[in-house]
Amino acid sequence: MEKDCLFCKIANGRMNTDFLFESDNVVVFRDINPHAPVHLLIVPKRHIRSINDLTDKDDAILAEMITTGRRLAKQENVNVSGYKLLFNVEKGGGQVIFHLHLHLIGGWKK
Ligand code: AMP
Ligand code: ZN
Repeated sequence: MEKDCLFCKIANGRMNTDFLFESDNVVVFRDINPHAPVHLLIVPKRHIRSINDLTDKDDAILAEMITTGRRLAKQENVNVSGYKLLFNVEKGGGQVIFHLHLHLIGGWKK
């Protein structure tokens, strides 16, 4: 856990956040400021700052995050209509929380 990191606190159960999914490595919860009817965040429990900080050893966690996105898209019933899986990387890429997270966004009206 990184001191003063909001997503470390959330992912490690310190904030009483409702998880839609939890494994040993990742949690999924709803974005507090959704950009679409379905807007989830897929977050590793371990602190990683951004995509830039991944190493070859992190391939498994990255794969689990994407697989979790696919599963949650189905659970949220947006898999057929379609959705976005999005990483914002560092300030210029729109990242404001510097703990790795994958956005799952979908459910727009047809
Ligand atoms: P990013 O711009 O990629 O760093 O995205 C950070 C996201 O975290 C934003 O979409 C915020 O709305 C969301 N967020 C910030 N604080 C919380 C929180 N306490 N619970 C859920 N989502 C949050
Ligand atoms: Zn963190």
